[in-house]
Amino acid sequence: MIDGVLFDHQVLEIMLKATRRYSPLEAGGLLLGFRKGRHLHVIEATTPYAWDSQSRVSFIRSPKAHRMRALRLWKESHKRVDWLGEWHSHPGFSPNPSGIDNRNWKQLVRHHKAPMVFPICNGRTTAIWLQQSVRFRPIRFEFTHQDANGQLFAS
Ligand SMILES: [Zn+2]
Repeated sequence: MIDGVLFDHQVLEIMLKATRRYSPLEAGGLLLGFRKGRHLHVIEATTPYAWDSQSRVSFIRSPKAHRMRALRLWKESHKRVDWLGEWHSHPGFSPNPSGIDNRNWKQLVRHHKAPMVFPICNGRTTAIWLQQSVRFRPIRFEFTHQDANGQLFAS
């Protein structure tokens, strides 16, 4: 079980900027970072690549480019950086997951066999959703505090 997720400030900025830049189309990408006991520490978010498919109601990630980036970071970090989740945008709408989001998230957690974090950014705010396992509904983590490096969200 995860009870806290630390986001480096730049990661939250990357998601917000990409959401605004591509609005009204959806945007998204992978989240990369470290697993430390009951905490996740997100250090990088990828943003849309030309191979992704973006519409007003969907974002379909092309596995190729995002995985290349993940693989490179993983190697550079001596295999410590892990794939922690995925983010996407709902530009101008509620940052709550759709039925499709819920299904996708469960599939990813089933495949990865570990809790994952799924932020949704609407261009103003970013909701941090945590899928602990395939058996539970996603829980929203709330902002608790920040320091010079990042912001902590907890259950
Ligand atoms: Zn969605």
